[in-house]
Amino acid sequence: MHEEKEDPSGVQQRARHFAETDIAKRASEFDRKEHLPKDVITKMADAGFLGAAVPEKWGGLGLDPLEYGELTESIGKACASTRALLTVHTSLVAETLVERASNRLKEKYLTDLALGRRIGCFALSEAGAGSDAASVTTVYRREQDVFILDGRKKWISFAGVADLFLVFAKENDLTSAFLVERNTPGVEIRPMSGMLGNRAAHMAEISFTGVEVPVENLVSGIGLGFGLVANTALHHGRYSIAWAGVAIAQAALETMCAYAAEREQFGVKIGSQQLVQKMIADAVTQVGAARELCRRAGRLRMERSTDAVIETNIAKYFSSTIAQQVTSDAVQVLGGNGCWDQYPAERLFREAKVLEIIEGTSQLQQLMIADHGFKKFAGSGSGWGK
Ligand SMILES: Cc1cc2nc3c(=O)[nH]c(=O)nc-3n(C[C@H](O)[C@H](O)[C@H](O)COP(=O)(O)OP(=O)(O)OC[C@H]3O[C@@H](n4cnc5c(N)ncnc54)[C@H](O)[C@@H]3O)c2cc1C
Repeated sequence: MHEEKEDPSGVQQRARHFAETDIAKRASEFDRKEHLPKDVITKMADAGFLGAAVPEKWGGLGLDPLEYGELTESIGKACASTRALLTVHTSLVAETLVERASNRLKEKYLTDLALGRRIGCFALSEAGAGSDAASVTTVYRREQDVFILDGRKKWISFAGVADLFLVFAKENDLTSAFLVERNTPGVEIRPMSGMLGNRAAHMAEISFTGVEVPVENLVSGIGLGFGLVANTALHHGRYSIAWAGVAIAQAALETMCAYAAEREQFGVKIGSQQLVQKMIADAVTQVGAARELCRRAGRLRMERSTDAVIETNIAKYFSSTIAQQVTSDAVQVLGGNGCWDQYPAERLFREAKVLEIIEGTSQLQQLMIADHGFKKFAGSGSGWGK
């Protein structure tokens, strides 16, 4: 167990080394085979990365939000599916338990999660409940000292390999959150394939038929599943996705610059053409701006500011939007090679699109940001319309 905090610069160096040597060159193979191999998950666990944002007290590395963001960028630049494991296991599950679980539940699961002895996944979405996540139809009922769960979850990243599921279910109008162990009778996993991005993230459907969950595995309290637990998880997940956008856009920027500096057409390097330079200039600007928004959200999280939630949404929205634009331009700069899976641009393009959908779509972020804008600015104008 990591009892003292390791020098953060040492962690970042190890993360960059892991990203470059263990995953960058294999990312396209993981994507093609739709499989993140066990050795990658084991190395992440051994390096402590799966508990990167968990306090040392619970076996984690105790990175602060800015340090964790930097680590997420390093890993996300090399492989989106490997980064997705951090988003799901570390941000959505472990960080949520740090904040919302009882000490008893932490003792039962958190150290195992931080050390990667168990893998966690986040089971909120259903076929009929996506953006409107509060409309889940998975149900629970209490019977003596257990809760009984029935229902079906869809699109659950890493459900194919996870040991522990953070599951959201309803009784009447009360949504509650439960930790369900994989090997509980009545749990059935059906792997899903053919996704646009995060293809190696062991996505699966999970069905629960009369699944008995010990009462102590209720997270927080009855009826707090959506408002408290899911919202905490999504706050952490969005921060991770914001950095994922920076990571993918940075990888695309480097790809397009390297290509434009070599590729010749009409007797000159294409990088000397001003229309190509415009795409590179836009990418440099957008990546820099997205990284600064992520850092701003990170600083506010460190200060425990109430603005951290909306600034995380803003960072997630901006960063996933520019990742989509920058990766599209990377495909453009690489031309035919940009459309070919022997070059990274097409994979980055697919991975970027997914970021606009997961952890709350861009439209949902826009609704929340606009609401914030009205509250903050509608009364502070210079009197237009009065
Ligand atoms: C790669 C991947 C990994 C995922 N991993 C997980 C996971 O680990 N755990 C999990 O629980 N879920 C996961 N999901 C599911 C994901 O959270 C949902 O796909 C997402 O929340 C969107 O829900 P939906 O697909 O049902 O789309 P819908 O909610 O049906 O939305 C469809 C479209 O309608 C728009 N829309 C909906 N409501 C509004 C509104 N009020 N105003 C404006 N526009 C609106 C949306 O923005 C979107 O463009 C994953 C999905 C993907 C693609």
